Amino acid sequence: MDMTWFEEMEARIPQGEVRTRFAPSPTGYMHVGNLRTALYTWLIARHAGGKFLLRIEDTDQGRLVEGAVDVIYKTLAECHLDHDEGPDVGGPVGPYVQTERRPFYGKYAELLVERGHAYRCFCEKTESEEDTGEFDRAANPCRFLSREESDRRAAAGEPFVIRQRIPEEGTTTFHDEIFGDITVENKTLDDQVLMKRDGLPTYNFANVIDDHLMGITHVVRGSEYLSSAPKYNLLYEGFGWPIPKYVHCSPVMRDQQNKMSKRHGDPSYEDLIAQGYLTDAVLNYVALLGWSPRGEQEIFSLDELKAVFELSGVSKSPAIFDIEKLRYFNASYIRAMSPEAFAALAEPWIRKSVKNPAVDPAAVAALLQQRTEVLTEIPEKVAFFDALPDYDVELFTHKKSKSDAESSRDVLTAVIPLFEALEMWDDEHILDTMVKLAEERGEKNAKVMWPVRIAAAGQAVTPGGAVEICRILGKDETLRRLRLGLEKLS
Ligand code: GLU
Repeated sequence: MDMTWFEEMEARIPQGEVRTRFAPSPTGYMHVGNLRTALYTWLIARHAGGKFLLRIEDTDQGRLVEGAVDVIYKTLAECHLDHDEGPDVGGPVGPYVQTERRPFYGKYAELLVERGHAYRCFCEKTESEEDTGEFDRAANPCRFLSREESDRRAAAGEPFVIRQRIPEEGTTTFHDEIFGDITVENKTLDDQVLMKRDGLPTYNFANVIDDHLMGITHVVRGSEYLSSAPKYNLLYEGFGWPIPKYVHCSPVMRDQQNKMSKRHGDPSYEDLIAQGYLTDAVLNYVALLGWSPRGEQEIFSLDELKAVFELSGVSKSPAIFDIEKLRYFNASYIRAMSPEAFAALAEPWIRKSVKNPAVDPAAVAALLQQRTEVLTEIPEKVAFFDALPDYDVELFTHKKSKSDAESSRDVLTAVIPLFEALEMWDDEHILDTMVKLAEERGEKNAKVMWPVRIAAAGQAVTPGGAVEICRILGKDETLRRLRLGLEKLS
């Protein structure tokens, strides 16, 4: 066999740096578990000053979803998980899309046949039998075909798959950075299919070829691949290639028993964003799903994570996704934003319910920032700025501020002319007017402010107090609402 091409492929592989890859299959959305894999993979590379690659694993053509690759790019970009090499940016070991690497796999499969670690199998088995590994090795006649016979049948055009030749005896041990050493009996491993009849590799073959040819030093993936790792090791050994470090991540669970699953209604990354969570908060929370920092700190920027992330903190135990905890992170992130940044973020949510152009969304946002946990709460909270709800007169009765219908009627009657006379409509003058009125009446401020806020907002719970609400509504609208309140009370 002429080895020149193989030697050229070897020569392309960058050496002496940490290289990790995120290798999603384009399914159309980003699972929380996948996002976490991407994040850990990125962090390992960045922590070590290495390279992070993106490889699209699209060999399973049956599962392809239109536009799914764009979702991957978009998510990685939104999450600031930048890649150094990938289909869009290129790199020294491309192509970075598995279907474009198609010519490689056949050659390596033939090389493995040549080296005795794989064989052609001409048996007519359905693809599903091949994939589930329900194939009795001892009963497989093709495993024992001579090379001449196998070459002859292939040359005659008989269709075949290529199977891995697993040693009959002995054990295989692999090391995982999280799970430690795992040893299995070779007789429990099946002669898995490496190349299908259609000339496409199986995932189990392609991942090894690609990881090696791309110089991947740390293979980070979900623990569902743990059981395949011994077979991967045997493939690396069959080729005489160094074995990368394995980092298998435990699943993200929805509860003690069940993995999170989109099919069962658990949110994907996109769903969480649509539900009003912030990318940074999601990333921060996801980082902690299965990784514990050394100290007490919980809130980490991506830069901070990059500095402190270590594999020794990654846990073997499955992590349970807790939406309440994510809410808490989200609220912290919202509170920590600059008012300008929050206003920009909140504006589209405010505008969902507040269409009146006279209402300044930045002013409304200022009321919301300390009180918002998820952005989806916003439209409902501020709808009263647009339209006064049809409220019950009972709302004017409030024990704590000692208000009732009668006192409220008196307050509104007194405050309306005072507001009408105001020339400056700002917090200072609005507040001053109400404080003075309370003083004159010998009452606490609350007794004046309660009915004003109820009449202005038409609801008991509001972001912001009477002053801010009146200021944002503007003088005319405030007065219109106070008069309406008075009518209700009369
Ligand atoms: N394409 C595989 C998946 O999306 C990747 C597994 C791996 O990282 O090796 O599950």
